[in-house]
Amino acid sequence: MSGGEAPSERAVRRCRECGAEVRFSHREYAGRGAQMAVFRCTRCGVTDSAPVPRDAPVARGRSRRKAPIDEGPPENPVLDAETVKRLLGG
Ligand SMILES: [Zn+2]
Repeated sequence: MSGGEAPSERAVRRCRECGAEVRFSHREYAGRGAQMAVFRCTRCGVTDSAPVPRDAPVARGRSRRKAPIDEGPPENPVLDAETVKRLLGG
């Protein structure tokens, strides 16, 4: 047994049911531009979710950058959060 194993609780999420490690599964649109990060237990499959901080590097769809013309068509503006939600079965 190793006694010096003490990862920060913030870095490692644990399943509230069985205590096993949970892994990031996907994100869900929570409305008003907010998103929820969904985690799934690697042992029992229980899912848990936590709000994604606004300053997290996610959902960059709004940032406008000048795309070079020879780089192809711009990002499809139709594929917004609502569409993603539908595609995910929400
Ligand atoms: Zn579990």
